[in-house]
Amino acid sequence: MADNNMVKVTVDGVEVSVPADYKIIDAAREAGIKIPTLCYLKGVNEFGSCRMCLVEATGARGLVAACVYPVSDGMVVTTDSPAIRKSRRNSLELILSNHRQECTTCERNDNCELRQLCADLGVDHVRYQIENLEPQLEESAPHLIRDNSKCILCRRCVAVCRKTQQVGVLTPADRGFATHIEHAFGRDMAEVNCVNCGQCIAACPTGALSLKSQTNQVREAIQDEDKIVIAITAPSVRVGLGDRFGEPLGANTEGKMVTALKRLGFDYVFDVDWAADVTIMEEGTELIDRIANGGTMPMFTSCCPGWIKYCEYYHHDLLPNLSTCRSPQQMHGGLIKTYWAERNHIDPSKIVVVSIMPCTAKKFEIEREEQRLDNGCMPTDFSLTTRELADMIVESGMVFGMLKDTPFDPIMGESTGAAVIFGASGGVMEAALRTAAVILAGPEADVPLIFEETRGLEGIKEATYQVGETTLRIAVASGLNNAERLIQAIKSGEAHYDFVEIMTCPGGCINGGGQPQHSAWEKSIKSIPAARIKGTYNIDDKMPLRRSLENPEVKMMYDEYLDRPNSHNAHQILHCTYVERELYKI
Ligand code: SF4
Ligand code: SF4
Ligand code: SF4
Repeated sequence: MADNNMVKVTVDGVEVSVPADYKIIDAAREAGIKIPTLCYLKGVNEFGSCRMCLVEATGARGLVAACVYPVSDGMVVTTDSPAIRKSRRNSLELILSNHRQECTTCERNDNCELRQLCADLGVDHVRYQIENLEPQLEESAPHLIRDNSKCILCRRCVAVCRKTQQVGVLTPADRGFATHIEHAFGRDMAEVNCVNCGQCIAACPTGALSLKSQTNQVREAIQDEDKIVIAITAPSVRVGLGDRFGEPLGANTEGKMVTALKRLGFDYVFDVDWAADVTIMEEGTELIDRIANGGTMPMFTSCCPGWIKYCEYYHHDLLPNLSTCRSPQQMHGGLIKTYWAERNHIDPSKIVVVSIMPCTAKKFEIEREEQRLDNGCMPTDFSLTTRELADMIVESGMVFGMLKDTPFDPIMGESTGAAVIFGASGGVMEAALRTAAVILAGPEADVPLIFEETRGLEGIKEATYQVGETTLRIAVASGLNNAERLIQAIKSGEAHYDFVEIMTCPGGCINGGGQPQHSAWEKSIKSIPAARIKGTYNIDDKMPLRRSLENPEVKMMYDEYLDRPNSHNAHQILHCTYVERELYKI
């Protein structure tokens, strides 16, 4: 019997059976045909404005946009003909006529989707008057630079900021030739309620939105003989960095990464996984204390600076619910400039901590004044993204694939499997549960190691676990649209939890705005977050120690310095406060 939910479509002679709610572009993908696009971003931005995906389809008048035109049973589609090629080239030339072309020096010169499309469609000259465009730079935010002279008005950034992140501070303004993208109310980026997640940069097909790079300042610090420059690398970087160098998606490049950092001149290379284990000790203890002593519940994780800023803008009433723990980046920097400096008799003002993160929001976090240590130092001096590290490796001439493996330096290099899964949505929750279960049920109890319900790419996950005498109701959300739905359910009384993990980026930090970029086509044919998440769980599976409370270097640090989690000393260095931020209003 025929399946009413499926239809047969023939694309360039290839017949495929596809769901009836597919668009032509989906059917073409099933048929193994790549239709060129610019504004299209699967599931996020599908409105057919760039006219690149025009095709011929039976039953349609003239050419139709494949990203919005629905399939129908028996439809015959042609994606390549002289008329289609002419139309696409014409559209591309019109876009180029208003685009500042500096391809050789553009930050995106190795992966610009506009440049690639010119190559794919054989556009080697532009017939229309090319305006003498000047750069139109907006550089007020710590994490990104906007240059509207390279903007092609595809609106992928607008859709991501509004639909995926629920923030909506990017918007088209004016009409006709004057149309441009701006931040809300025409304000500077630094003045609007942007949470610095960088997902708009990841969505942009051109160099119109780019990272604000700090690699030159880091190179200067490395050259300064008075400075001790220490790199600390986040869990997700090791499963993302290889993308830039042709390694399989999600491949663990930890050893090569450490070698590269040493060869770039860093004096020490420590693992933020070590600090993630410290975070679990602090956050797990805080959770147990709140449960035992009637503290504000539910408790929300605080590892993600994008989520913290979102809460500070939109949910002032939830600030007491946020864990007071700093993020692993800030805990690590703080302990380097106190514990490690004192142990090695080094003046902390001579230490430069450079974090390597999948995240652009960390660039904002390191500047937060509430994070300053009692000794006057900021915990972290520079926060580079995975992409910036990849740039430094390429510039140095190292052949990444040929690098040997080097281990992290002691005494902040050892970690457990619980720490490495921090990068995946649900990973912080699972890591916390692994340790909390042992503490709550007692060391002799047979407690689980894997909390399967926390895993996966669903936007919201929830579960209830019985640990010893305690019932723990947990929820995990990634992507701020999902976080907002979860918060509304909690506020309305529809949902009740004890512990909630929120990550700004969909899928967690493995999909952070600072990870290597992929084109809309690559994102439509494979799940890059899923591959990186698989990479992190594979690392966890092979770790000899998988609970944070088992980390010997962390135990040593508490014995030698902080005494115990949540101690007075620990609060001075590892915890922080939050601020209420005002939403900008007209
Ligand atoms: S960084 Fe995030 S919040 Fe800020 S404009 Fe981009 S998508 Fe929106
Ligand atoms: S800034 Fe980038 S993503 Fe946004 S409209 Fe312009 S080209 Fe598109
Ligand atoms: S989810 Fe991770 S990468 Fe994204 S903003 Fe938060 S900390 Fe940064």
